[in-house]
Amino acid sequence: MNIAKPAIPSFQPPRRTLMGPGPSDVPQRILDAMARPTIGHLDPAFTDMMEQTKALLRYAFQTENKLTFPVSGPGSVGMETCFVNLVEPGDKVIVCVNGVFGGRMLENVKRCGGVPVAVEDTWGSPVDPAKVESAFVANPDARILAFVHAETSTGAQSDGAALAAIARKHGALSIMDCVTSLGGTPVMIDAWSIDAAYSGSQKCLSCTPGLSPVTFGERALEKVKARKSPVQSWFMDLNLVLGYWSGEGKRTYHHTAPINPLYGLHEALVMLAEEGIENAWARHRANHEALKAGIEALGMRFVVNATARLPQLNSVYIPEGIDDALARGRLLSEFDLEIGAGLGVLAGKIWRIGLMGYSAKPANVEYCLKALTAVTKG
Ligand SMILES: *Cc1c(COP(=O)(O)O)cnc(C)c1O
Repeated sequence: MNIAKPAIPSFQPPRRTLMGPGPSDVPQRILDAMARPTIGHLDPAFTDMMEQTKALLRYAFQTENKLTFPVSGPGSVGMETCFVNLVEPGDKVIVCVNGVFGGRMLENVKRCGGVPVAVEDTWGSPVDPAKVESAFVANPDARILAFVHAETSTGAQSDGAALAAIARKHGALSIMDCVTSLGGTPVMIDAWSIDAAYSGSQKCLSCTPGLSPVTFGERALEKVKARKSPVQSWFMDLNLVLGYWSGEGKRTYHHTAPINPLYGLHEALVMLAEEGIENAWARHRANHEALKAGIEALGMRFVVNATARLPQLNSVYIPEGIDDALARGRLLSEFDLEIGAGLGVLAGKIWRIGLMGYSAKPANVEYCLKALTAVTKG
């Protein structure tokens, strides 16, 4: 065998300003934490860190749920973890679809053998609680309600408290996607009575991608324990994952936890606790207000009504006569600035400007407005 040795140097990423739908800018402090020495995933020092991470996540989710931990995998794995454990073949699930991620929830229900009932709203609108109520009246056997709290594909936020209350009233569990909301706008798992929720590390927590914080309440756990059929995914089966994450008695090997990324998440959550979650919400709001003023001064219009607008994800219509790909290409090549394109029915029509986590700061707002002025007016 004589395979040529490739002469490839180390990878040096360019320095970008990340103002898209995620990942957001990662603070140096978090990158430094991730560069600390790798230790074993059953090392007592590591398991102590895991316990701290769980406590910090309870604060971020505003919950006392014991079962709160980061799944090893991106937000999509957190999503699947919720669906594969809670949806048994034949279960009827009401799924709210007002953007890309609601559509993925629907797909998850089907693949679990569940019977989805879609409640659709226009992209850019929040989920309409009245439609959800009607869907439960028409489907009294529905066992679960699934909805996206912050639809990253459109920038619309739905009323988590109202939707979870409807599910409760009809004896159903709720699954909430809070990938984009956690750390950016209030996510109140206990106050809203959410039964299961998942998030991601790379949006308003400003960590690197690849970890998905999840939380499950007692009622959700009861449903998992009462399953008649085993969870079809070995990796995501909570009964097995818990042998490692539960912290009761001896930890057993399930899979090798991503050690260094977990140092990063721990640091991100320490930073959130230091700032105070209410202050983090207020910071996202204040930077959104500043960006909004500048965007409107440039003559651009928002996609979502002010009442449902996510401060951390600003969708705006691309100005008349501006070429989408060309303008975003210039932002990247001339300004090292990444913003998001439209998805699905909104592709080519909108831009999605993220103010997530560490990216939600005045310097980024100013820089983004300067760059947008150059590519739309220049
Ligand atoms: C980003 C996102 C996801 C998926 O997260 P990944 O980390 O990309 O797998 C799911 N739901 C919403 C609302 C998101 O914004």
